[in-house]
Amino acid sequence: MSPFGRCRKCTGTGWQAPTGRLRRRPKPCRRCQATGRRLRIGRRLHNHSTRTRAAARRIRDAARR
Ligand SMILES: [Zn+2]
Repeated sequence: MSPFGRCRKCTGTGWQAPTGRLRRRPKPCRRCQATGRRLRIGRRLHNHSTRTRAAARRIRDAARR
């Protein structure tokens, strides 16, 4: 299972559709850095908890010393 999902902003194209009345060139999507993919929510949670645990361990080890 891929940890990536399609970007909702650009629906996986990597380009933002031009908005407003003026027809502008499509801009590269900032939300996904123009990749068209984003980490899915489960993966984001996993990364967050992993990072938090690592940080907590680092602080604990530093305090012990
Ligand atoms: Zn996007």
